[in-house]
Amino acid sequence: MKDSATDPLGLATALCHDDAIASETFGAVVPPIYQNSLFTFASWQAIDSAFDDKINNAIYTRGHNPTVVQAEQKLAQLAGADKAKLFGSGMAAIAAGILHFVRPGCHIICVRNAYGPSVRLLDDYLNSRIGLEVSFVGGEVDEIAAAIRPNTTLIYLESPSSGVFGLQDIAAIAALAKARGLASMIDNTWATPVYQKPLAMGVDLEVHSCSKYLGGHSDIVSGVLMGSARIIDAIIANEFELLGAKMAPMEAWFLLRSLRTLPLRLERHQASALKLAKYLESHPKVASVSYPGLESHPQHALARQQMRGFTGLMAFRLASTDLDAIKGFVNGLKLFRIGVSWGGHESLIFAPAISYLKEMTPAQFEPMGLSLGDMRISVGLEDSEDLIADLEQALAYLA
Ligand SMILES: *Cc1c(COP(=O)(O)O)cnc(C)c1O
Repeated sequence: MKDSATDPLGLATALCHDDAIASETFGAVVPPIYQNSLFTFASWQAIDSAFDDKINNAIYTRGHNPTVVQAEQKLAQLAGADKAKLFGSGMAAIAAGILHFVRPGCHIICVRNAYGPSVRLLDDYLNSRIGLEVSFVGGEVDEIAAAIRPNTTLIYLESPSSGVFGLQDIAAIAALAKARGLASMIDNTWATPVYQKPLAMGVDLEVHSCSKYLGGHSDIVSGVLMGSARIIDAIIANEFELLGAKMAPMEAWFLLRSLRTLPLRLERHQASALKLAKYLESHPKVASVSYPGLESHPQHALARQQMRGFTGLMAFRLASTDLDAIKGFVNGLKLFRIGVSWGGHESLIFAPAISYLKEMTPAQFEPMGLSLGDMRISVGLEDSEDLIADLEQALAYLA
């Protein structure tokens, strides 16, 4: 799985080896953790010279911690980035990345279907409270081009989006941003850096929630920003250091553990998800399936062009709109556990109607293209035959 002739090692090999560190740590096959808040120095001169390069020297863990830096180096290698910076959550990374491009009176363009809290940060916070201009657009290049204003600073993408699985033409939009002197940023959480390389397509800043596939075991919350050393160093000196949302060394240590199996886990997520998507698509009680890896996905051709693979999160719509029967289906599942988040070893289901119904009636949300029968599943690492059998028995609850 080599990325180019310049990579000395295949990806899976690089993720599994820490030989340079082992040579200094009794040959420890798992690098020891630096679970400390500060680092001390032998002399005035030593701390004085560390201060000359605060970003790259271990002084205090809200700046640089060697365990966190090890994980950052692996992620940067994986994404083909100069540099990566880890944060305490995906939202902390998203907020720091967006704020980096904010200027007084600026305008930001964001795809309408981006992750809910990212939209709220732009809409309810930066727009409503601080008065910045924000435009929410569909993902087409023309629509984004038409939304550009003289004060636009940033185009924010999420492809595929994690709610409705809409894609944007990443290379075309990155080229548009460059031509107009704007920054571009993308949430690449769904595809992971293994299956999609937005930086190579010209995007300036890539963000991930590491709480999903990168962590992969539903035991850490964290996020990462990746890009050129110029942008990442500027973010470290400002939005990282000043907002203070650092990643804990223990979580970085768990993330390093997870990255060793990332390519392997993704192969299983992908293979099982495709089987489940095809099964659901052919089931008479399922009206439609939304999964970029299916030929029936309206942007499957674009997905094949800009992605190398597909992961395990998908949506489908039950044909039924009988709420009691739909609850029977969800409650009848034995292996799919009910919950938010995704990307872990365990299969999950969530019905977005649980959120819609808090604010709207079906008569209000159905005209918006939403349905009581909408389901989102995260396909985990279990045997796909067991997952299909579980869906089969639960679908029997529907008329
Ligand atoms: C979960 C998620 C986030 C936020 O990440 P946290 O680690 O939960 O803060 C951002 N984007 C997408 C697409 C996500 O699924």
